[in-house]
Amino acid sequence: MNSKKKLIAGNWKMNGSLAANEALLKAVIAGVDDAACDIAVAVPAPYFAQVQSLVAGSAIAVAAQDVSLHQVGAFTGEISAAMLGDFGVRYALVGHSERRQYHGETDVVVAEKAQRALAAGVTPIICVGETLAERDAGQTEVVVKRQLAAVIHLNGHCISEVVVAYEPVWAIGTGRTASPEQAQAVHAVLRAQLAAASEHADRIRLLYGGSMNAGNAAQLLAQPDIDGGLVGGASLKAPDFLQIIAAAR
Ligand code: PEP
Repeated sequence: MNSKKKLIAGNWKMNGSLAANEALLKAVIAGVDDAACDIAVAVPAPYFAQVQSLVAGSAIAVAAQDVSLHQVGAFTGEISAAMLGDFGVRYALVGHSERRQYHGETDVVVAEKAQRALAAGVTPIICVGETLAERDAGQTEVVVKRQLAAVIHLNGHCISEVVVAYEPVWAIGTGRTASPEQAQAVHAVLRAQLAAASEHADRIRLLYGGSMNAGNAAQLLAQPDIDGGLVGGASLKAPDFLQIIAAAR
């Protein structure tokens, strides 16, 4: 069961500008002075320094949306885990479905990225989730278990050091949310898999992501194995993001 602090992480994706970031974060910071949960915003890399200075002294942590699987060197366009560390980045999304889908990231790549993040002191938020075709074919469990199995034994690290986000691909950016029961059912499967691998499975935060919004957050977050949310669209609107944070008690 769930005595750990919940985590609400916003994923801005490729949205933002200096002016918009400042307005959004000032409004969020003004509304979260007594947040009962941990909060993070996964921002585009060029804004790390700006966002770091805007959130300084607040309850909000900075997250990256990806990390390179390479350590250093001739990898044009890549951003290493050590660079994230330089900017005080606390979490990195790894294996988001948009990375798996548009950039061909495999389970092996996702595991290597998670490993790099951990080695640099950055907590990976490892995303798993099935497509609509996979759900319709009754493959949800098989898919998410395969994706989690790829990261469950990380060299020199315990799986309890990561955050896992269950994000059904059919619910991301579609306005179609998994019902609390559907989400809980998959979270319970993931929790059991984690428990078989680590005696610290209870410590691992399992986030739900996929069209979480101000209206559905409380019910989703009330499920016994849902320890927070990964929030895309709704994290770009301060009042909505604040309502989700308020629901994470
Ligand atoms: C996401 O990008 O991780 C996400 C869950 O997006 P949305 O909330 O917009 O569905």
